[in-house]
Amino acid sequence: MDYDVKGHLHQILDTLPQGVRLVAISKYHPNEYIEAAYEEGQRVFGESHEQELRQKHEQLPQDIEWHFIGHLQTNKVKYIAPYVSMVEAVDSLKLLKEINRQAERCDRVIKVLLELHIAEESTKYGLTLDACRELLEDGEWREMKHVQICGLMMMASFVDDQQQIRREMQTAADFFDEVKAKYFADDEAFCERSWGMSDDYLIALDTRSTMVRIGTTIFGPRVY
Ligand SMILES: *Cc1c(COP(=O)(O)O)cnc(C)c1O
Repeated sequence: MDYDVKGHLHQILDTLPQGVRLVAISKYHPNEYIEAAYEEGQRVFGESHEQELRQKHEQLPQDIEWHFIGHLQTNKVKYIAPYVSMVEAVDSLKLLKEINRQAERCDRVIKVLLELHIAEESTKYGLTLDACRELLEDGEWREMKHVQICGLMMMASFVDDQQQIRREMQTAADFFDEVKAKYFADDEAFCERSWGMSDDYLIALDTRSTMVRIGTTIFGPRVY
């Protein structure tokens, strides 16, 4: 292995304050890279493609907590439902319902985050703040016993402007407080704010992230 995964993993872990969890984003990286991080105690990994995740899940230790971080098509939910730990990017009621349905078939409860679209880029997925308010106000989610909504997730715009990134993450943090107070005040499980990637996770720590999703800094550049 020509990349120092262990060294880079520890560099990141050393900068994370207590209460912030690392999701090591291993998409496009080989199993041996994941095993190197695993040997250092890392257990939470994130993938964004169903087939790649399936293979890795089959080949790697069973106590890994897999987070699905990509855009998930409803017809793929059934493949990951038996084992996925968290679906981070729920961007529609339809997807939430399908996760609930498939989780019920497996007799599981799957943790999910609602993905916000705050970035100015039109390429990003996610719920606008108003769409997220509508989904929560609608209330159908309260009947879904096989999903647990654990918080919010977002990706900031891919720009150099640090102030813009900070504004977007701050918007997400403020929105978290709004929906926490309105819908989840008594629900301790609703506590996660998943933002921050290799290039912007220090800003994320400043804006109350609880979960950073870091790939490139730990594993090196992805080979597509
Ligand atoms: C790939 C990816 C990451 C990790 O990005 P890096 O820049 O490699 O740290 C984080 N979140 C999501 C949703 C991703 O798709």
